[in-house]
Amino acid sequence: MTEQQPHILVTNDDGIRAPGLLALKDACARIGRVTILAPSHNWSASGHVKTMHKPLRVDAVTLADGTPALSTSGAPSDAVALASLGVVEEPIDLVVSGVNSGANLGHDVTYSGTVTAAMEATIAGMPAIAVSLNSREYDDFTVAAEFAARLGRQVLEQGVPEEVLLNVNVPPLPADEIAGVKVTRMGLRIYRDRLIRRLDPRGKPYYWIGGPEPTGIEEEGTDIWAMAHDYISVTPVQLDLTAHDVIGSLEEWDLEL
Ligand code: MN
Repeated sequence: MTEQQPHILVTNDDGIRAPGLLALKDACARIGRVTILAPSHNWSASGHVKTMHKPLRVDAVTLADGTPALSTSGAPSDAVALASLGVVEEPIDLVVSGVNSGANLGHDVTYSGTVTAAMEATIAGMPAIAVSLNSREYDDFTVAAEFAARLGRQVLEQGVPEEVLLNVNVPPLPADEIAGVKVTRMGLRIYRDRLIRRLDPRGKPYYWIGGPEPTGIEEEGTDIWAMAHDYISVTPVQLDLTAHDVIGSLEEWDLEL
């Protein structure tokens, strides 16, 4: 280990005890020095959070393999903010978030704590990779973690444009069964949520939003197509959400006061 090694922050949204985090730490330790700062519990589908109305705690913990790490009461995006604002003293060269248990495809990125942790890094000016495994049952995170680290090495060498992060999804397969790697665009998810209404013991209704796993439109060139065809998907995601094509036609509207 030399002083010239890049410094990598590893975080996630499944919580500090998630096996995907451990696999990602192992892989990233081969390309740099790793600091882990991750949420103390599962924040999946928590979106982009900035905790402003309660204090945030950071505790030193030890992972299952004996690795020292930092655990926070905050959200994944809070973990990245805490690290970049000074809880982690040494400058961070790269943020890698994951390996998430479950895909983050298409519109999932707006819900995903895994991806929004990477977004927080992008806003803070640090290059970032989000990496997710396209299964909630498959428990071998090695292929996804190794690929993220390989991609991370290239990000460190070549950089990514400002405002851009890389969203990676990996099929739940051994390396020799993966068809290859595709650079993709975000596909269209089809959510199948239903509203479940029940009564609590006092007779007052409560609601639960739930349903089967989302599907998606398997259009070629998208992240959803890549998953359906056993490819690793790498989507460059930009934080500029402006619908540039619409600016011209919107200017034609009657927008006088
Ligand atoms: Mn998650």
